[in-house]
Amino acid sequence: VKILAIESSCDDTGASVLVDGKILSNCIANQTVHEQYGGVVPELASRAHQENIVPVVDLALKKAGVSKEELSAIAFTQAPGLMGSLLVGSSFAKSLAMALDIPLIAVHHMQAHVLANFIAESQPSFPFLCLTVSGGHTQIVRCDSPLQMKVIGETLDDAAGEAFDKSAKLLGLPYPGGPLIDKYAAQGDPKRFKFPEPQIPGLNFSFSGLKTSILYFIQQQELQFIQDNLADICASIQQRIISILMNKLVKASNETGIKEIGIAGGVSANSGLRKALEEQGKKYGWNTYIPKFEYCTDNAAMIAITAWYKYQAGEFAGLDVIPGARAAF
Ligand code: ATP
Ligand code: FE
Repeated sequence: VKILAIESSCDDTGASVLVDGKILSNCIANQTVHEQYGGVVPELASRAHQENIVPVVDLALKKAGVSKEELSAIAFTQAPGLMGSLLVGSSFAKSLAMALDIPLIAVHHMQAHVLANFIAESQPSFPFLCLTVSGGHTQIVRCDSPLQMKVIGETLDDAAGEAFDKSAKLLGLPYPGGPLIDKYAAQGDPKRFKFPEPQIPGLNFSFSGLKTSILYFIQQQELQFIQDNLADICASIQQRIISILMNKLVKASNETGIKEIGIAGGVSANSGLRKALEEQGKKYGWNTYIPKFEYCTDNAAMIAITAWYKYQAGEFAGLDVIPGARAAF
């Protein structure tokens, strides 16, 4: 079985080829046009997808050594994401599936982030708990099989990635600031500044209070002080975001009794979070899973692995399938 998967939910155009469960290529065209605006501009994102999709798909097929005619199915990200971006990927996938007369597979982007943990050799067993932390979502997901997932906790306001990016913006760092906070934090003292941990019941999260306290903190300091203490400030912010995430993950593990635990999404590329998961894993006797860096932020390989499970389950989409900006699973 040879599957071509396309990811175009936000600002990166991805294409991946999977053959009998193995990822043979995972290509991505990153859009740099948004940097100057401090965030993704939807209209510019759709245009860039239009420009990138044909070359990226060609490259993915070439790298995998697979021709279009050999493909068994075409998969694409159906939801959630920016509508204009999703439309480029879905229209392309539909046209190609129709031209080749092969099945179409619609994939949920957040389900795919979770299943990025199943690309590696050592895979989680079920039930499995995944903390998905990305630019638009923060979820604790209980998985009873690859396609049976339930969100048991989520953010009530900002996502973890937004907490990183908005903090970075307040500090005057360019977009997306998450990776930069990670970089500066590596040289800083995480105990130097104290930011509050919100008291939210159950397994849900909130990051808006943290954002406000960082704003007040920055307003009270001289610009020079911020610049001189950037590493300590970044380390302290990152430490707090991580403790908010890990405390709920520990709670979720205790409540469900599940000790197969992974992370996923763009923020799972964060070195502090990766380390914290390993440490908590040792402490609580968990088996921990962390996707390779290239499978954390948006990529088409995660769409391909999800499509592989859907292919085996016979879950195909009709040509009348439409993308959705928001969609639960
Ligand atoms: P969603 O998946 O919710 O639709 P998205 O696809 O835009 O959102 P991802 O690509 O999964 O999000 O993740 C992007 C986010 O990950 C950004 O907020 C970015 O700052 C954050 N991020 C990436 N690398 C790091 C890092 N090393 N440390 C902290 N945050 C990071
Ligand atoms: Fe994503």
